[in-house]
Amino acid sequence: MAGEPQADCLFCKIVAGDVPATVVRETATTLAFRDISPQAPCHVLVIPRGHYRDAAALAEAAPEVAADVLREAGAVAEQEKVVDSGYRIILNTGAGAGQTVFHAHAHVLGGRGLNWPPG
Ligand code: IMP
Repeated sequence: MAGEPQADCLFCKIVAGDVPATVVRETATTLAFRDISPQAPCHVLVIPRGHYRDAAALAEAAPEVAADVLREAGAVAEQEKVVDSGYRIILNTGAGAGQTVFHAHAHVLGGRGLNWPPG
């Protein structure tokens, strides 16, 4: 069922506290933690607590939680002080686009110059 925890999902394990993470913010519906392999001085992942395979599936099944994820991404950027220099919210969708964890997540990247288009 949409949103139900998946036993084989790394991010569900982080939500459950079974895998450690450096949490920087949390709400009733979301969790934000530092990426284990940071690609910028600020690299935080914002995830819904519920399991959805990607951002589109999240928006389809629980649009209010999708909005929570985006709002929290902005709050992370404020907290990390990258708003003035600019930051990027990235939603990799599908293996071909670089998605490796199939639990919806928004990357919040900032603190360095960000090229366009992304690679
Ligand atoms: P994706 O490639 O868009 O699916 O992003 C998955 C992200 O999860 C990558 O940037 C990984 O570095 C990150 N990641 C993988 N395992 C962990 C972990 O245990 N803690 C925090 N981040 C992780």
